[in-house]
Amino acid sequence: MRIGMPHMGNLYIPFKSLFQRLDIDFVIPPLTSQRTLSLGVRHSPEGTCLPFKLTLGNLIEAAELGADTLLMPAGSGICRLGYYAKTQQHVLHELGYNAEIVCVGFSQRKLAGLLETIKNLSNNAPWSKIIPAFRFGLAKLNALDRIERVVQKLRPVEETKGTANRLLTKAVKAIDQANDYNTLKRVQIDYINQLNQVTKDEETSPLVVGIIGEFYVLLEPFSNLDVEKELGRLGVEVRRTTFVSEWTKFSLFLNPFGVNEKDRIHKAALPYLKRDIGGDGWESVGEKVLHAKEYDGLVHLAPFTCMPEIVAQNIMPKTKENIPVLTILCDEQLGKSGMLTRLEAFTDLLKHRRRVKNKA
Ligand code: SF4
Repeated sequence: MRIGMPHMGNLYIPFKSLFQRLDIDFVIPPLTSQRTLSLGVRHSPEGTCLPFKLTLGNLIEAAELGADTLLMPAGSGICRLGYYAKTQQHVLHELGYNAEIVCVGFSQRKLAGLLETIKNLSNNAPWSKIIPAFRFGLAKLNALDRIERVVQKLRPVEETKGTANRLLTKAVKAIDQANDYNTLKRVQIDYINQLNQVTKDEETSPLVVGIIGEFYVLLEPFSNLDVEKELGRLGVEVRRTTFVSEWTKFSLFLNPFGVNEKDRIHKAALPYLKRDIGGDGWESVGEKVLHAKEYDGLVHLAPFTCMPEIVAQNIMPKTKENIPVLTILCDEQLGKSGMLTRLEAFTDLLKHRRRVKNKA
């Protein structure tokens, strides 16, 4: 059995570590690229959302490398995610790949379901091997997100543009290579120190922009054309509440005990939207309401044809909590120069708004 899975940011790093420790043959498809997108677009049904196309492209590239067991997240929600695995399986078979898709159903059995899937994939490895391997994977996931948060703060204020991104690339590589807790801890401390020592422009008070929207396009930089890096280059501090480590902490460990991190966000959305509409639409509305006073603006990332985010996009202008929102529809037609022009215009508007506010 050779396992493959689609990319979403650096998520392959904790999975690689987990599978290596369990001696599972795991193949990492090439990082998401223009080729991945072309493959996905060519073989997807018309009108599907970008996450479907990109993950399909990843799965095809994994199958090309000999993967015969492909992992796909599955959900019981209201949107198309529930149909992904079945449709992608069909496409792969049509293309002549004999790979089977294994659904990883987080939403139903949470941690127990995930651990059982790992046990099956590892050919019944003992729990005494699975649990430490799983914990170390989680430690890597936490380390990656911790460093990314520091980088988000540093990008807009670093004196030499690009320093934070260069350190991030090195840190990701070092975390990937760390083989024990001591090394992992040392790598984290070392890179966070290096990031803290970067020369900053202390005079600057950067604009603060929240990034909200659909989970996948928030976390896969290829799908959003590196919007966070681009905003950082424009002198904007990005705030994002969605991180895989946070999601894991709540979804796998705390939700079963009745602790739901989204309660606050859902409550904030209630005057405008009373129920879950699938995907992350409810959260997008709630985040706008919650953060209207804290942030200068919001960038709302929505896959083209994503029903939950279309609903959210249409509700947002009507909330009484007033904050500028730039919705970026992500699909294969999104071009870098067009997006940059819109980001530049948006940040100009936010700067003007801040000046007016400061004078008042
Ligand atoms: S939330 Fe939107 S983009 Fe994500 S799977 Fe559902 S429909 Fe597609």
